[in-house]
Amino acid sequence: MKRAYKLRAYPTRPQEGRAVRLLADHCDLYNAALQERREAWRLRHRSVSYGDQSAQLKEIRAADPDGQGRHSFTAQQQTLRRLNTVFTAYLRRVRAAKGNGRRVGYPRFKPGQRFDQVLFVAGDGARWEPPDGGRWAHATFQAVGRVKVSQHRPVLGRVKALQLKREGRRWYVIVVTETETEAVPLPTTGRSIGVDVGVARFLTTSDGEIIANPWFLDAARDRLADLQRRKARARPGSGDRKRVRRALAKEWRTVRNQRRDFHHKTARGLVDTYDTIALEQLRVAAMTATAAGTVEAPGRNVAAKAGLNRSILDAGWTQFTSILAAKAESAGRRVVLVSPAFTSIDCHTCGASCSRPRQDTVVCPIHGELDADLNGARNIATRAGLGSGQASAA
Ligand SMILES: [Zn+2]
Repeated sequence: MKRAYKLRAYPTRPQEGRAVRLLADHCDLYNAALQERREAWRLRHRSVSYGDQSAQLKEIRAADPDGQGRHSFTAQQQTLRRLNTVFTAYLRRVRAAKGNGRRVGYPRFKPGQRFDQVLFVAGDGARWEPPDGGRWAHATFQAVGRVKVSQHRPVLGRVKALQLKREGRRWYVIVVTETETEAVPLPTTGRSIGVDVGVARFLTTSDGEIIANPWFLDAARDRLADLQRRKARARPGSGDRKRVRRALAKEWRTVRNQRRDFHHKTARGLVDTYDTIALEQLRVAAMTATAAGTVEAPGRNVAAKAGLNRSILDAGWTQFTSILAAKAESAGRRVVLVSPAFTSIDCHTCGASCSRPRQDTVVCPIHGELDADLNGARNIATRAGLGSGQASAA
């Protein structure tokens, strides 16, 4: 089982300088590799693989002993892999877009300030030392040094990888571990559930339980909208602009942390209660398109807020699904992903195609008005082979 621990790191000033340079050098490598792929495609219509690029590393390092040559070889491979992942996703989107004629943006160069992490293989250019009694652990990175890390919870398992990450002015080390131990199954409950995640509410279960979007997202949305307006007014390059940008980054960090916490708690609740949990395979693009449609004739402010709403919720669904899947795996529970086609528009009782006059309501020609999310959750349960997914049906 794999686990990741995100821990705050406290580099000294000189270490921080070297860490910034590490990120900059990896950013250069990433952009150069992207450049090669672009050119190969533009000039010869040839695609370049990860293997091709990795094979050139030795030469690149030898030619630049004071730059690229100082860094960990395997960490550089990870950065090239990261680009490869971006490309695989890009090609998948291109294939998906062939049917609907939508344009797909080519992967872009990363500006230095946005390149924020480097992944190291543990034991090869990076080393982890657990705390010796106290709370301070240490992570050593090639070309950076031995950095102090605050370990606020125990790190379990064998350390496989270490990631050095910058978020605003803070630094983190993400420790990735693997444990041999099998999952510890929770006692079975004999209960199954279908879950519909949505825009207006966080989720609705086929039992009719509703979990609202947490209040802190609304509060954060207003603060973010306010900061973005201030940023737009501030002169480019001014001190005020820098301050606002930092405040924005901080606000986003808060949102991400609160959201992750909320996802963990919600997933915990579901995994504790149900043996099998059925979810839709996510189509985030489709969902956000619907979300945009609910804001009628938006003024500028509303549009900005709606945009923020989407970005706040967007990252959420995928993260929630993966947290839920991880918790389910370690508890011996089952998560079933069902195809999303028509789960929200067919009546769960008779299967008739419903109309959807409002975002929250569908109307079945036979059964009348239904709560759209509840209907969706029951369809998901049925599609996963869990009956109607209603407790009362037993
Ligand atoms: Zn019906």
